[in-house]
Amino acid sequence: MLNERREIQVACPAFLGNERKYVEECLETTWISSIGRFIGAFEHEFARLCRVRYAIACNTGTSAVHLALLGMKVGIGDQVIVPSLTFIATANAVRYCGAEPIFVDSEPRTMNLDPELIERAITPQTRGIVAVHLYGHPVDMDPIREIAARHSLFIIEDAAEAHGARYKGRFVGALSEVAAFSFFGNKILSTGEGGMVTTDDPDVAERVRLLRGQGMDPSRRYWFPEVGYNYRMTNIEAALGLAQVEKADEHFGARRRVSQWYYRHLGSCQELMQLPIEEKWAHHAFWMYTIVLRPWLNRDSVMRGLAAKGIQTRPVFYPLHTLPPYRQAGQTLSCAESIAARGVSLPTHALLSEDDVIYVSENLAKICEKSKRVASQAASR
Ligand SMILES: *Cc1c(COP(=O)(O)O)cnc(C)c1O
Repeated sequence: MLNERREIQVACPAFLGNERKYVEECLETTWISSIGRFIGAFEHEFARLCRVRYAIACNTGTSAVHLALLGMKVGIGDQVIVPSLTFIATANAVRYCGAEPIFVDSEPRTMNLDPELIERAITPQTRGIVAVHLYGHPVDMDPIREIAARHSLFIIEDAAEAHGARYKGRFVGALSEVAAFSFFGNKILSTGEGGMVTTDDPDVAERVRLLRGQGMDPSRRYWFPEVGYNYRMTNIEAALGLAQVEKADEHFGARRRVSQWYYRHLGSCQELMQLPIEEKWAHHAFWMYTIVLRPWLNRDSVMRGLAAKGIQTRPVFYPLHTLPPYRQAGQTLSCAESIAARGVSLPTHALLSEDDVIYVSENLAKICEKSKRVASQAASR
């Protein structure tokens, strides 16, 4: 398989059901904006999927995180604990509220927020914790819940990367006061752009719904008790979303299948890389199959080697405490920094075949072996 050439995207949405039919219905009925039958239907089905009482659709995952924070009444002067190793939207949403994100390091096994480090980041200004289920592996919620209870903090799940993941049998999105999902084109379920807030709390649901639609009083048109946002989802996006949720088990199953293929075909490479870990209490959603190369391998040259073979990959996110908007002199979070420098997300989506995974795995092994030889020659010189 090494001699052939394939083009393999790192991510790709899959349309496995009624997408075309439902979008066509939007065009035929002219309901293309943020009123229409698909919005309510998508919210209803998504709530059922997560086993929560309320799901509120919105225009992006970023606004879902923002709305979740506003639902918890986060405001100016507040501090919110977030992992440094996450997509920047998690922290940006905290900033949109006028609050300050406080970055905490990750633990090396799941790459998620390290519960042991949370407590020392708490100050009198701390209001809550954002638990990000990174790359689809659920956060170990019990110890975090204990800390939150002890200090009267809220927990928000950022489940943008983890549709269908489970913690001790329970679906993410239902493990905290309020949660946020994304339906961006590369996520596990996709509506192009889109997001969802889930909660069991009727007051939070009502507040999120209000703020999503400019803050207008639902019983008094053009009366706005406070400043809201236009974070609405369109009926077309919801049409895609409903079709995707109807096939959720197939979407979730496809990612599990792809990841099992990677485990099989990279199983003999563990001297070169750490494969993703799935804790006993976790059901990993495998948004991305993310490996961490051994420190003596050059991650960027491995990625370039793969790109030359037509294989798209993504580096792990830069830790947020190292990025210009959030940089603070002297802050080091060594686990996040180490994973970020060595992590690579391999192509993971529902349209990959086992042959595609073999092609990626064989090329990756070969490139790493070569990089290892170069490194050991340099060391012996
Ligand atoms: C993708 C993502 C978001 C933001 O979602 P958008 O739909 O792109 O706005 C937020 N948090 C995390 C962890 C993400 O991966």
